[in-house]
Amino acid sequence: MTKLLTRGGLMLSLFAGMVLFAVGCGKPPAPTTESKVKADVKDDHSGWWCKPHGIPEEECSMCDEEFAKKCKEKKDWCEKHDRADSQCFICHPEHQEKFAAKYRAKYGTEPPPMKTEKK
Ligand SMILES: [Zn+2]
Ligand SMILES: [Zn+2]
Repeated sequence: MTKLLTRGGLMLSLFAGMVLFAVGCGKPPAPTTESKVKADVKDDHSGWWCKPHGIPEEECSMCDEEFAKKCKEKKDWCEKHDRADSQCFICHPEHQEKFAAKYRAKYGTEPPPMKTEKK
C-alpha cells in the first residue's frame, strides 16, 4: 500500500515537473499575424471603397444587389464567378487596374490589398 502511494506520488511530481518544464520553456508564439491585422485595420475610407473586392462600394456587383441587377440587365455578368463581368478580376485581371486607378485618383495612394480569391 505504501509502495503504491509513493509510486503515485512520484508519478505526480514527475508530471508536475513536466508541466512546469513545458510552461517554463514554452516561448510565446511568434506574432506572425499581427502585421496582417494592422493592415486590415488601416481601411477606413468611410466605406467608399469595397476593400475585399477592390471596387468602389456603390458599384460593387458583389456587394450591391441593385448594381448587380443592372449589370445583369446589360449582360455584363460573369456567371461563373457571380459578379459583373467587367468586375471579374479572375477572368479579366486587367480590369483591376481600372478600379485601382479610381482609388488612386481619389486618395492619391495605392488601394489596400484585396482578398485573394481561388481561381
Ligand atoms: Zn464588394
Ligand atoms: Zn469570371
